[in-house]
Amino acid sequence: MHALVYRGPGRRALEDKPPPAIAQPGDAIVRLTRTTICGTDLHILKGDVPTCQPGTTLGHEGVGIVDAVGSAVTGFRPGDRVLIACISACGRCEYCRRGMYSHCLDGGWILGNRIDGTQAGYVRIPHADFSLHHIPDGADEDALVMLSDILPTGYECGVLNGKVQPGSAVAVVGSGPIGLSALMTAQFYAPATLVAIDPDSRRLELALRFGATHALAPGPDTAEQVRALTGGRGADTVIEAVGVPASFALCQDLVAPGGNIANVGVHGSKVDLHLERLWSHNIAITTRLVDTVTIPQLLKAVTAGRIDAARFVTHRFPLEQIDEAYRTFAAAGESGAVKVIIQVSD
Ligand SMILES: [Zn+2]
Ligand SMILES: [Zn+2]
Repeated sequence: MHALVYRGPGRRALEDKPPPAIAQPGDAIVRLTRTTICGTDLHILKGDVPTCQPGTTLGHEGVGIVDAVGSAVTGFRPGDRVLIACISACGRCEYCRRGMYSHCLDGGWILGNRIDGTQAGYVRIPHADFSLHHIPDGADEDALVMLSDILPTGYECGVLNGKVQPGSAVAVVGSGPIGLSALMTAQFYAPATLVAIDPDSRRLELALRFGATHALAPGPDTAEQVRALTGGRGADTVIEAVGVPASFALCQDLVAPGGNIANVGVHGSKVDLHLERLWSHNIAITTRLVDTVTIPQLLKAVTAGRIDAARFVTHRFPLEQIDEAYRTFAAAGESGAVKVIIQVSD
């Protein structure tokens, strides 16, 4: 089978690999139909993720068809169409039993990191009963790929941790796939004001189409502009979806008294916390790695047409052209790419 393999910092290759086999009784082998590329894959390729060893197949998102199951798998059978969660969960350890699948003692984010991932013809999914989800017949598989990682990430780490409330003011810093996911799912709670902030004018236009009420390019007046939109208060929920010191600093300028800053961005360097200003403002700051516990709920919202997840898809490529797909995704500023679908099979 073909697989997109990490070969060390700056190097990736589409290679021939033997298809995976069942290794543990809880495993399933899934034949991929669709997968995609994540910003995290680009982090790995920069050499930022030391847990990912050269030789690993990349990718942690996708949908497919179960090809084989281990003897302990009870919830899935060969032929079932499934959605793959980016987080693997044993369902039994202390963290899983608290719903914190991201910290599963025998799982977590391992796909396309510690073990071979989904940018391939087939993938081995450990703990299949807790790491796969059945998908309804006739569902739009492009849309469902957005449920492996980006929609639950924006929703769990941004919207739920940020406690978005009806009538509240929400600011989302960053309008990449994760920021847009937070924007989309924040609307479940009907905030009155939903401000998107991003330097890229094309992404701001997209944010408005995704339901932002206002779109701002970050600058020296951003906090003042947000206060002007919120009766002088600032945003009740500020969602950080970039992961650099300047964006976290901006979040601290935007938050209203009593508000929440929900960090989603992956930070590679230390950031300043301005407690000299915020100590008396009754704010909360949260961090989270996606647990994917909301996939069943989001799956129902997508299949019922309550959110249009397919609108993230800007490009599509067959697996054989995944190199071009990586170039297009990495050059999002020029290509306008948000999510690229890699079609592996029918
Ligand atoms: Zn991802
Ligand atoms: Zn576990």
